[in-house]
Amino acid sequence: MKIIHRKTIKDSLPLKGIGLHSGKTVTLKLHPAEAGTGLIFFLYRAGQKVRIPISLDHVVDTSNATTIGDGGSNRVQTIEHLLAAVYTLGITDCILEIDSVEVPIMDGSAGPFLDGIRSVGITELKETIEPIRINSPMWVVDGDKYLVMLPSDELKVTYNIDFNHPLLKGQSYTTKLDESILTNDILPARTFGFLKDVEALQARGLALGGSLDNAVVLTDDGYLNESLRFENECVRHKILDLVGDLAVMGRPFYGHLIASKAGHALDISLAKCIMSKVTGDELTHFKSKRIPLFSKREANS
Ligand SMILES: [Zn+2]
Repeated sequence: MKIIHRKTIKDSLPLKGIGLHSGKTVTLKLHPAEAGTGLIFFLYRAGQKVRIPISLDHVVDTSNATTIGDGGSNRVQTIEHLLAAVYTLGITDCILEIDSVEVPIMDGSAGPFLDGIRSVGITELKETIEPIRINSPMWVVDGDKYLVMLPSDELKVTYNIDFNHPLLKGQSYTTKLDESILTNDILPARTFGFLKDVEALQARGLALGGSLDNAVVLTDDGYLNESLRFENECVRHKILDLVGDLAVMGRPFYGHLIASKAGHALDISLAKCIMSKVTGDELTHFKSKRIPLFSKREANS
């Protein structure tokens, strides 16, 4: 089985943009980190520096976007597009400094993060990382929405969306997901929203930074944008979100993902399900390898 090395970035990368929901200007700086650091946000706010590691234990909200927090009032939201790019490039260790509560939306896709990281370069570390492989199907269900992961030696996805909209009825996409496919076919897909929802979202203080520069906007029967990047851009973006959300697990993963009408909440639920099973299996495996050795030594003494 292929050995996977941990990776960091070669040099610091400053990025500037606005938050999709907050509408505020955000500066995000990525910095190289030592092996084992993981992915950690440092939120600079009101003269304080707050540490928020990217992990499932730190996910505090999954409505509209994936948000992590420190357990108190400090949060960073919309981490999923950045994480999809970080995951695609195999970056395991990186410090992310941010001066606002939301990762900048950039052009609504993960493309600018991917291009930015590639422009500063990637360093392969000597330490390795164990990928997650499941040996039995795992799934989460919420009414008619579901997300399943089947055992597979490669990462694949079958995604179905079914919105009450003439253009997004039963849109489905199946693909293998490797670095090249993610880079070319998934990460450029932009986030999307419905024009009819914009007023309601803005009344709740959301989507304040949303525009045709950073989102695909659907009218009652068409698109407000002049052109799309892909004919099925919306379902591709849902795959981007799924990869970004599962990247919160902090390890590469293999499996065949089958999603229908899923979203951040189901993505994170599946990630929790996988991690509890995988870490449980790994602990059992570790124990079952250890116990006989221990007993033998005991018997000899
Ligand atoms: Zn998204």
